[in-house]
Amino acid sequence: MATPRTHEAMIQARGLPRGNGGLQGDGAMTGILAQVSREALQGEGLDAVLQRIVDCLFRRLPVAIASIILLDDAGTHFVQEVWAGQLDLEQSVPLPWPVTLGAAGRCARNGQAQLIADIEHDPDYVPGHRAVRSEYLVPIRHRARMHGVLNIESEHAEFFTLEVRALFDAVADQIAGAIHLARVAGELAAANRKLEGLSMSDGLTGIANRRCFDLRLAADWQRLAQEGRMLALALVDADCFKPLNDTCGHLYGDECLRTLARLCGGFAERDEDLVARYGGEELVLLLPGRDLPAVHRTGEHLRQRVEAEAIAHPCSTVAPHVTISVGVCAMQPEPARAPELLIQTADRALYAAKAQGRNCVVAAVPRTPRDRRSRARTAE
Ligand code: GH3
Ligand code: MG
Ligand code: MG
Repeated sequence: MATPRTHEAMIQARGLPRGNGGLQGDGAMTGILAQVSREALQGEGLDAVLQRIVDCLFRRLPVAIASIILLDDAGTHFVQEVWAGQLDLEQSVPLPWPVTLGAAGRCARNGQAQLIADIEHDPDYVPGHRAVRSEYLVPIRHRARMHGVLNIESEHAEFFTLEVRALFDAVADQIAGAIHLARVAGELAAANRKLEGLSMSDGLTGIANRRCFDLRLAADWQRLAQEGRMLALALVDADCFKPLNDTCGHLYGDECLRTLARLCGGFAERDEDLVARYGGEELVLLLPGRDLPAVHRTGEHLRQRVEAEAIAHPCSTVAPHVTISVGVCAMQPEPARAPELLIQTADRALYAAKAQGRNCVVAAVPRTPRDRRSRARTAE
C-alpha cells in the first residue's frame, strides 16, 4: 500500500496542476491512454495488471482516488477492489457488497456511466475522502459481460469535462479487454490442465494410463539413479480373465478391472508411488525406494487383498473367485541402462508365477550381460 499523504501534497510533489489543467491537449490524453494500453497487455496476472492501471491513472492525473471494483460471476456483488489514491478513507464498505448499494452499484445495475458533479447532491454516494467533490463511474464491460466499474474521484467539481470523461470511457474499455484476456487465458490454462489429466489417465479405471507410466518410469529411473535409491516394480495380471469375460460378459470383466485398480491403489502409500494400467487386464505398481523383499511383501499383501474381496469367478481354474498373479523386481537404476530392464525382469517373474499355477507372487533379479551370454551358448 502507498504511504498515506494528502492529495494536496501529492499534487505539489508531482508538479501537477489542479483541476483538469494538466489534461489540456490531445497529446496528454493519448499518452495516458497509450500507457494504460501497455499496462493492460502486461501478462503478469490480472491483479498486478489492474494495480498498474490504477497506479498509472493516479500518478499521471490529478485525481484523488482511482479504483477498479470487480463483480462476481453472477454480477450481483462487488467482490474485489484494486485502487490507488488517498488512504484516509472516512468510511469503507467491506467487500463483498451488493450492487444495490452506492453509485458504483447504480453504474453496474443500469450499465451507464455516472457523472456525479457534486457528491453532496447524490444520495448514493459513499464517501471515500472528505476532500472529494466529484466522481465519475464507468461500467467495465466486454460485449454483454459486465466485469465491474471504474471509479474516479476528484477534489474538483469541474474536473470531469467531456474530454476527461471520454478518456476514462476509453480506459474502462482497455480494462475490460485486459480482464477478458486474463479470463480467457485462465480458462485456457484450466482446459489444458484438464486435457493433460485426461491424456494421462485410463478411461475405464481412472488410474494412470500406460503413457503416464512410461513417462514416470523414465523420469524415476534417472532421478533414483542420481539419488542412489532403489526402484521396485510389481506387474499384476488377473488370472483366467478371458474365460471370465466369455462367461460373465465384458461389462462384468470391466467392473472387476475397476475393483482391481482400486485395490492396487490402496498399495500406493507414498506420494511418489504410482499405480497404472499397463494394458489389457495388467496393472502395475511403481514403487521408488523399495528393495526386493519390500516389493515382494507388497505383492503378497495385494494378492491376499484381492482374494479377500472374493469377486465371483465361476470358471477360474484357480479358485471360485478372481485371483491375480504378480511378478516383482527391484534394482538400483543406472543412467547408462534402459528402464525397460525393470519391465522385462518383472515380466519374467510374472511368467514364472503363471507357470507355478497362478495366484502367487514371484520375484526375479535382472539378468547380467554374462547371464545372457551363457543362455545364448546353452541355446547353441
Ligand atoms: P492368464 O491367467 O494366463 O492371465 O489368462 P488370461 O485369460 O487372463 O490371459 P489372456 O492374456 O489370455 O487374456 C486377457 C484377457 O483380458 C483378454 C481380454 O478379453 C481381457 N481384457 C483385456 N482388456 C480388457 C478390458 O478392458 N475389459 C475387459 N472386460 N476385458 C479385458
Ligand atoms: Mg494378461
Ligand atoms: Mg491374465
